Amino acid sequence: MTEAYCIRVHETGGPEVLKREPLELTDPGAGQVRVRVHAIGLNFIDTYNRSGLYPMPLPFIPGREMAGVVDAVGEGVNDWKPGDRVGFVGLRAYATHVTAPAGQLIALPDEVSFETAAAMLLKGLTAWMLLFEIRRASPGDTALVWAPVGGVGSLLVPWATSLGVKVIGVTSTEEKAALARKAGAAHVILRGAGDVAGQVRELTGGAGVDVAYDSVGKASADASLASLKPRGWWISFGNASGAVEPIAPGRFGQLGSLNVTRPSLFHFISDAASLARGTAALYGALRTGTISPLIEQTFPLEQAGEAHSLLESGRTTGTTLLLP
Ligand code: NDP
Repeated sequence: MTEAYCIRVHETGGPEVLKREPLELTDPGAGQVRVRVHAIGLNFIDTYNRSGLYPMPLPFIPGREMAGVVDAVGEGVNDWKPGDRVGFVGLRAYATHVTAPAGQLIALPDEVSFETAAAMLLKGLTAWMLLFEIRRASPGDTALVWAPVGGVGSLLVPWATSLGVKVIGVTSTEEKAALARKAGAAHVILRGAGDVAGQVRELTGGAGVDVAYDSVGKASADASLASLKPRGWWISFGNASGAVEPIAPGRFGQLGSLNVTRPSLFHFISDAASLARGTAALYGALRTGTISPLIEQTFPLEQAGEAHSLLESGRTTGTTLLLP
């Protein structure tokens, strides 16, 4: 068996602070399960934890999404047994082994590979949160989607389109624009061409969009707000370009009584019933072929730093996996 190891952060900073270290294997405690990890999904939040934008107590093992096989269970655990295939959205995923509360594990159907699960559990549940839990997407809606072919975007766009939502994507290159169209976007705007909101008004006959799914943050906030219909929704769910500057609430009134929310997935899957509801929706969308994760980059876990650099460069499409 390969030596058990993890990636640990002792001080926040650039990708170089991600250090490979031995992992001491301990038996799971009461109510806990230990999982032998097969694949880990890379998420932008991992870079925020590493850099300190979203602080974590130091030292810490980063990572929020993985899939693998149960290899030990603690006292009182009846729902899982060694050999079960599971996925996980939680903490400390950058490791060969993760010990987690039994209630946080997600059963993997036979047809869902470890790679697929690690590529889409956190990102797919985020798309589910955006489309069903915050504000139910309806046929005829128009939506602005930033980073439409990124990890979350490549699941959000086809899922939204399948619900009858007309998607306007905003991306950086012609290559990404072509992929967004292929995934279902009705129109794609290149953000480098300027005046995103003006182009949105043109494409919607002056009306604007019902909702802006905004994962870019600092660089996209103004354009999102200026693209909305009166009483539209600005769903600011990420900071790929940096944290959004403070905005006075009065501005949302002036722009048309806008609805504004800054959701975090972890508040939407914090109990077993919500996690089960989200997972059922996600597996349903996967089974019907509505969504399928695009695994475009794969790195050995010990090269997590290189993977972070590439994700932060904005050049990736789809999902990046780390393999222990
Ligand atoms: P992505 O794969 O979407 O990568 C980020 C993308 O953002 C880039 O590929 C790029 O796409 C775009 N981008 C725009 N400006 C920049 C910039 N200055 N630097 C880097 N990228 C930029 O990442 P993920 O799918 O992992 O995450 C997407 C976003 O969703 C993140 O902000 C993440 O934090 C957020 N998120 C939030 C959750 C929540 O609960 N609130 C849960 C999961 C994710 P393009 O070239 O198309 O512009």
